Amino acid sequence: MPLKLEHLLLNDTDRKSIFAAEDSVTPDEKEVCDDVVLLWKQEPSSEELDISKLYAKIKARNQQWALPEERFKTILANHNLYSTDSSQLFTYADQVTSLETPDLPDKVLKKGEVRYGSRGKSLYAKVHLKQGELIFSEHDPLTPIPPLDKTALAEKGRSCSLCGLSLTQSSHFTIMNGLDCQNCSAVWCSKSCKKIDTTHPYLKHPMSKNKKIDGGGWLKFEAFCKEQVITSAYSVGLIYARVLVERGDGQRIWSRFKSLAQVSQKLRIKAADSSNIGGTFDASNGSPLVESRSTWERCFDLFCGAFPTVESEGIDLDTFLTYIGKFNINQLSGQLYTIYSHLNHNCEPNVRYEIDSKMGLKVFARKSIDAGQELLTTYVNPLHGVMLRRRELRVNWGFLCDCNRCINDLEKRKVSGPSVHLTIPSSCVNTQRRKSSLKAARPDLSELLKNGQEFDLEIPNNIGVTSRRKSVRFDDKVMAAVEE
Ligand SMILES: [Zn+2]
Ligand SMILES: [Zn+2]
Ligand SMILES: [Zn+2]
Repeated sequence: MPLKLEHLLLNDTDRKSIFAAEDSVTPDEKEVCDDVVLLWKQEPSSEELDISKLYAKIKARNQQWALPEERFKTILANHNLYSTDSSQLFTYADQVTSLETPDLPDKVLKKGEVRYGSRGKSLYAKVHLKQGELIFSEHDPLTPIPPLDKTALAEKGRSCSLCGLSLTQSSHFTIMNGLDCQNCSAVWCSKSCKKIDTTHPYLKHPMSKNKKIDGGGWLKFEAFCKEQVITSAYSVGLIYARVLVERGDGQRIWSRFKSLAQVSQKLRIKAADSSNIGGTFDASNGSPLVESRSTWERCFDLFCGAFPTVESEGIDLDTFLTYIGKFNINQLSGQLYTIYSHLNHNCEPNVRYEIDSKMGLKVFARKSIDAGQELLTTYVNPLHGVMLRRRELRVNWGFLCDCNRCINDLEKRKVSGPSVHLTIPSSCVNTQRRKSSLKAARPDLSELLKNGQEFDLEIPNNIGVTSRRKSVRFDDKVMAAVEE
């Protein structure tokens, strides 16, 4: 009598694995990359895992995948996601160029000195700086960029047309103080905001048309930027409009903008390579790196529609993409600050900054700094683990960070495996567990926290395909989280 074999299923997991073996599929490279990126977004600490542990996690998430470990490694290396030899990863820092900054006001730089060298521009302490001392301040950004996500509110007169501040003032107050627009429903929070908003009549009144700016064209361009969340293009457009509108000051703004470090957005996208990757940083100002060539072509067409003389002035798609890249590598909280843009990165910065509600910037010494030492800020969240920090820096600024902290962290990682990580999605853990993880991670931070009061902590509220991680830097608003 023939034997009859029967699967006895103990629970769902077993059923799943049996199905997995039967229906196994070979994922394509993009599927593999996307799932790795998704995992990193959902569980930021998983980026610190070594490749075998990462492989095990991905296999567990996709039991139907026929994916040998070797192929997994090759795919990640091909797509710039992971390499045991980091020199294999794509960088572009050597292609970042900059020009000498024109007419830097001496009085604001009493304590600092700009130097030009192989790494581009840098800022050095001219005198000894005490911990907590104000080093310099910048009253305004190069051109104030109103928050893109507030434009709808601003159009209804519910937030300031320039700074985006939510308005609580009465319409009586607005009218009495002349803070409203005669031609549309826009209002401003203050006389200074109204005065600075010189491009408003040219951009926001569809009928307005001068030779160089087409108001109707601008509104289409703005709507596209909003729909695609391309803050960088919107910002470049606003800067360009200001240059066209303000004759004297316009030239000053334009030559400063042009002097900022630049690299084409095309190279930045290449460093990102897989969709979503690198978006971690840029999402903080709403600029994902997932744009395709056709998105950029459309964006540039609309830019030309807003500014009809663009092409006759020699600005083509490539130049436009360089402006986009320039904005992205220099922006701080969605604004460009001329002096601040001279600061280089270190994962253990010696300065910190504050931005007030009027977009004014102040930069302070985080620790005592000797005359002649370089002033260093951090471009990424210093609480991130070394792998995430280095990836964000590589994708967004094109270099592999070799600061002392990174070297030490990488050494430690080799010896003891990945360290405990602070970024824990709150949806995945209960409060208690999060707190204990925070505690566990705290000793690693003692050095960082010792010298400053300002580190932010990232705890994403909701994690999913559409949610993006924000990598904000020094921000008072999240200080409380560290105190927790
Ligand atoms: Zn305002
Ligand atoms: Zn108006
Ligand atoms: Zn570093």
